Amino acid sequence: MGTWFQWIADVDASDGEAPVLAHEIVTRLVEKQIILPDVVAGAAFGDPGHEPGPEWAAAVNTPERWTPDGVRIDATRTVFYGGQGGYDWAQCPRCDRMIDGDLANGLLDGVEVWLSGDPSAHPCPGCGGDVPLPEWRWDEDYFAFAALGLWFWDWPRLGPAVHECVRAVVGTHRLVYRAGKL
Ligand SMILES: [Zn+2]
Repeated sequence: MGTWFQWIADVDASDGEAPVLAHEIVTRLVEKQIILPDVVAGAAFGDPGHEPGPEWAAAVNTPERWTPDGVRIDATRTVFYGGQGGYDWAQCPRCDRMIDGDLANGLLDGVEVWLSGDPSAHPCPGCGGDVPLPEWRWDEDYFAFAALGLWFWDWPRLGPAVHECVRAVVGTHRLVYRAGKL
């Protein structure tokens, strides 16, 4: 057994714009009746979240008979994690150098300071650049360090509707998507 989840994270959203973008995404998903407008305690795998709306099935590739769990929206710095499985490498977005083992794990030493508001930049052994934690790319999209994102709990695999909705709001920001299991 386990719990399936999917998240979409915007790693480029600033702390200031994340709540604004989150509000706009929620407004659009509510208009499409994919989610309900109210935030309900415990609705999203124990966290506050939006319950599925009457048209939730329009958001997924293959609807199941059961109604999925809720949707949590994060608009502050959050670690979006992969659940079961793992990663072998992280990659510099500037020079494409891949790092693994202790080097990749070392990036995670910066998570706490990043959560507190620091860019948590880490030097890249390839190009020498100081690359902020959210910019690194991860094997299997195992992590996203982002101030904005949505968690869908126990939803069938999302179709294009949600991705297109988020993309329309965030523009050219880099989005990271992962489907995983706890
Ligand atoms: Zn580099």
